[in-house]
Amino acid sequence: MELRASQKIEYIPSSWYNIVPDLPEKIPPYILPDGTIVRKEMLEIIFPKQLVEQEFSEERFIKIPDELIELYQQVGRPTPLIRARNLERYLGTSARIYFKYEGVLPAGSHKFNTAIAQAFFNKLEGVKRLSTETGAGQWGSALALAGALTGVKIRVFMVRASYDQKPYRRVLMETYGAEVYPSPSNITNVGRKILSENPSHPGSLGIAISEAIEDVLNSNGEAKYSLGSVLNHVLLHQTIIGLEAIRQLEELGVGIEEVKYVIGAVGGGSNYAGISYPFIRYRLSGKTETRFIAVEPRAVPSMTKGEYRYDYGDTAGLTPLLKMYTLGKDFVPPPIHAGGLRYHGLAPSLSVLVKHNIVEPVAYGQREVFEAGVLFARTQGIVPAPESAHAVKAVIDIALKYKGSEEKPVILFNLSGHGLLDLKGYEEFLNNTLPDT
Ligand SMILES: *Cc1c(COP(=O)(O)O)cnc(C)c1O
Repeated sequence: MELRASQKIEYIPSSWYNIVPDLPEKIPPYILPDGTIVRKEMLEIIFPKQLVEQEFSEERFIKIPDELIELYQQVGRPTPLIRARNLERYLGTSARIYFKYEGVLPAGSHKFNTAIAQAFFNKLEGVKRLSTETGAGQWGSALALAGALTGVKIRVFMVRASYDQKPYRRVLMETYGAEVYPSPSNITNVGRKILSENPSHPGSLGIAISEAIEDVLNSNGEAKYSLGSVLNHVLLHQTIIGLEAIRQLEELGVGIEEVKYVIGAVGGGSNYAGISYPFIRYRLSGKTETRFIAVEPRAVPSMTKGEYRYDYGDTAGLTPLLKMYTLGKDFVPPPIHAGGLRYHGLAPSLSVLVKHNIVEPVAYGQREVFEAGVLFARTQGIVPAPESAHAVKAVIDIALKYKGSEEKPVILFNLSGHGLLDLKGYEEFLNNTLPDT
């Protein structure tokens, strides 16, 4: 029995899959506070034309340029697809558990899949610099690497609390050549104003987004803005994960109709969209009956407790309004270790799928999630990122329903990143000092 698919270069798809034309309902348009519908030209102030085209595209497949496929190869795509046989045995389940492992990418998570695509299209259009925000630093480090590989300068506004407390991802970003500023910083008006009122302000993602956007607007067209989740073009780039998985499962003799569950952790929704949308396509066309389980932290329950309505993407209210499941832009997430899941909203396309009950949300508390992460490390060897451990917890719960069963359903999940820079959370769990939020 093969436990691991090969990583043949041909498994990298030649096109991304765009779910937009296949959704059961159109995504409501992005709007401005006065109700005006956002047009392409408006977004072109902060994003390059080709990414804006992708954002609004109704084409089912969008070609990945050959040079970009080469960049994907260089850093380790296709990523491994592995059967978690040790975990299955430990649980005594008859389910077959497979995972796609994105933690092999050099910055440690799936975020590089869109970072490199964004840097590539910006470079093509002559953009010299990208400005972005980062919380704990996963997104910033992925974009920093993408900048190094394409020759685009990267400027990152990193939430000050993380900048001070989590130096390693900052060092990683700087190693890749990015400029990193603690946010609030003294290089933007927004930052200076906040610092003048409170010089030791801990910062927030909302403030960091405001700084990055101000930086772009003041750059005389030299810089553009880059976002790591939520928007259609970001989710589109991530579909490379699911498209590879379909081919790799096929190599192992597993057809898409055998896949009973596709599971992933959800912050803004990009890694989960990445693994699930290519499978949701077949469910929407009636070819399969796969169930799609999206996992969120109980402390940030945008899918299970949020409202489906228009809301801003950022705390400051600088972005257009998107219709999505949201806890409200002013929601202050508790300081859980899964920093990548601390976002108030949910990608608009994924929101449509949740609304139509095609994607089923579940929420878990921090301790049970780390317990699942530890079990995965002790059976499969990989220490999951705290974000990814949410998916592992859901996988275990479902697999346990098939203890001593005759059925052998396939459970596929996305292990979106490794947790080697998040060992603090594991330390707290092991020492019994982790708050159970
Ligand atoms: C950022 C991050 C997430 C959450 O973001 P999505 O856009 O929902 O994918 C999940 N896992 C890891 C490892 C991350 O870095």
